[in-house]
Amino acid sequence: MEHLVTFSVHEDIGIIAINNPPVNALSSGVPEGIKAAVHALEANVSVRAIVVIGGGRTFVAGADINEFREVLAGKGKMPALHPALFAIEDCVKPVVMAIHGTALGGGLELAMAGHYRVATPDAQVGQPEVKIGLIPGAGGTQRLPRLAGVAKAAEMCVFGEPISSEDALAAGIIDQLVEGDLLAGAIAFARNVQVARRTRDRFIAPADISEVRKKLRRNLMAPGAALDAVEAAVTLPFEQGIRHEGEIFERCLHSDQCKALIHAFFAERAVAKIPDIPKDTPVYPIRQAAVIGAGTMGGGIAMALANAGIPVRIRDMEQAALDRGMAAIAGNYKRSLKGGRLTEQGMKERILRITPQLGWDGFDAADIIIEAVFESMAVKKQVFAEIDKIAKRECVLASNTSTLDIDAIAAATSRPEMVIGTHFFSPANVMRLVEIVRGKSTEKPVIATAMALAKSLKKVGVVVRNGFGFVGNRMLFPYMEQAQLLVEEGATPERVDRALTDFGMAMGPLAMADMSGIDVFWRIEQEFPDSAGRAVGIGKLYAAGRLGQKTGAGWYRYDETRKPIPDPEVLALVQNQQRAVSDREIVERCIYALINEGARVLDAGIALRAVDIDVIYLTGYGFPAYRGGPMFYADTVGLEKIHERVLEFGWKPAPLLDRLTGEGKTFGSL
Ligand code: NAD
Repeated sequence: MEHLVTFSVHEDIGIIAINNPPVNALSSGVPEGIKAAVHALEANVSVRAIVVIGGGRTFVAGADINEFREVLAGKGKMPALHPALFAIEDCVKPVVMAIHGTALGGGLELAMAGHYRVATPDAQVGQPEVKIGLIPGAGGTQRLPRLAGVAKAAEMCVFGEPISSEDALAAGIIDQLVEGDLLAGAIAFARNVQVARRTRDRFIAPADISEVRKKLRRNLMAPGAALDAVEAAVTLPFEQGIRHEGEIFERCLHSDQCKALIHAFFAERAVAKIPDIPKDTPVYPIRQAAVIGAGTMGGGIAMALANAGIPVRIRDMEQAALDRGMAAIAGNYKRSLKGGRLTEQGMKERILRITPQLGWDGFDAADIIIEAVFESMAVKKQVFAEIDKIAKRECVLASNTSTLDIDAIAAATSRPEMVIGTHFFSPANVMRLVEIVRGKSTEKPVIATAMALAKSLKKVGVVVRNGFGFVGNRMLFPYMEQAQLLVEEGATPERVDRALTDFGMAMGPLAMADMSGIDVFWRIEQEFPDSAGRAVGIGKLYAAGRLGQKTGAGWYRYDETRKPIPDPEVLALVQNQQRAVSDREIVERCIYALINEGARVLDAGIALRAVDIDVIYLTGYGFPAYRGGPMFYADTVGLEKIHERVLEFGWKPAPLLDRLTGEGKTFGSL
């Protein structure tokens, strides 16, 4: 513990170093160490100024979020930062903060308590607390406006995006950039300053922040709360402002949104741990990849690979399909170039990494082959039988199927242990989720390889077991069925979609069905084991040739802008009742159907843990992070209540939901 913060004297300068790897989080012990070091150096007559620097690769990347989680679980108390920050700010000798890497959240708050700040040109600073449902709670909302002005501080605290040290210099947060050795530069800077200039004594000019307020997302609590706290910096004296900030912070910390966002934050780490696949499981290095099928998904997957620097061959069976696929890829990259997300050079390099072809050239050298042909078992079996003949022995054979039996596909090869599902989501170059489907014979190094690949593509791999629709799509069908039934009973499609987007879903289910294709859902409905065929909407739209966006009409009508336009014809086609349906009923029926099916998926062992389902829905289906994912949300609402509503709706509760309700337990307790 005593090594978390060390201090030394370098001629006339005291140096405090923070050593809490990997990111120097302000875990308990660190603030206390800093405070003690400041007091010691302040009392040392040979020291005239102090430099605070982070050991290792960064300054201080933030508070220790684990400690917040402990507090929420009633197991710990909030780490006290203020005493350390006041010790710094009240120090009579100038304190210079030397920043490299990142100074985020508590890290920036610590830096702002210093009298001066210097930084490397590639450093970043920010107040990202809103991303986990919080506001800066150690003076960030009070000191930042005094350094950067109210408008800039409001923007940083409300949206949570970090800024570069160059921007921070321009904003007045940083006093000087240091090229070369940071510590030497900071010491030189410290020798030149005379006064201990306290941030809290700085003049604060009122500013118009109505623009920021206009951009607040109405469902989220923390951004508005952060703005209120920044405003208080203008109206209240510093000490009162700090108290006010503290009250708002506490309110946020104990909100359902914060708990959900912290859950979502840790959930992605949790799913990376698979109990029977230890960290040291060997992986096959992926240096070259191949994709079969240059359609929507094949093209997106090829881009994802190329973006990660992996050369990829993409094969289709006809030239026209290949040309269309490559044109789509080029078009996508051009849009990124136009949007400033890619350089001309970067675009060229990526396109050059993708080799379109009709034959099998180079497939024998591929480390992974990902199949993305039509969703037909016969076609997939044929493709896998063919690649079995060509691929090298240690090549991973992956299928992008969204519903089909991965074991049946594997059986078409002589090496089912090398076969795995890698279910990407559309658009595959953008969406972060990859459902990794382990078949009954898939060997562990193949699973570990798929997980490692997902990570190197900057995606989130969630390992699931084989079963119709796996986790995400299987749960989607009952959700979609309720959306259809609600329209049939009297709600308009736009009403159903709006109720769910108001709930926080990125997109309404019916608009989503139109985007993916009514034919896709119709085909799945035919095969879905539990769909009793109660809903007729999709079938009727399909029969009427309303296949969604691609035919200009589905649940909505579409013009060239692809904006959904309400269409009374749909009501004439599918409605068989005129019952008044409330928003609450829409949300409860759709979301509880999702949860009830989630309980079945969990019970069947297709999803390993409730948290895996949460991550799948957060990263692949636009479920709002501030609700933590469907299973976390279920626990928040209370399983007893959900169980009761499920019975009222006349559905059969999943056995696991029955059991947990009976025992008074939660999904999180499993
Ligand atoms: P698509 O129709 O856009 O593309 C399929 C491509 O495969 C076509 O270009 C076709 O010419 C080619 N193809 C067919 N048989 C082939 C063969 N034997 N050899 C070489 N090429 C062949 O389809 P898609 O939407 O990209 O879907 C591909 C797979 O991905 C399907 O299994 C689908 O279920 C799955 N998937 C689709 C989505 C989605 O939203 N579209 C999402 C996740 C998964």
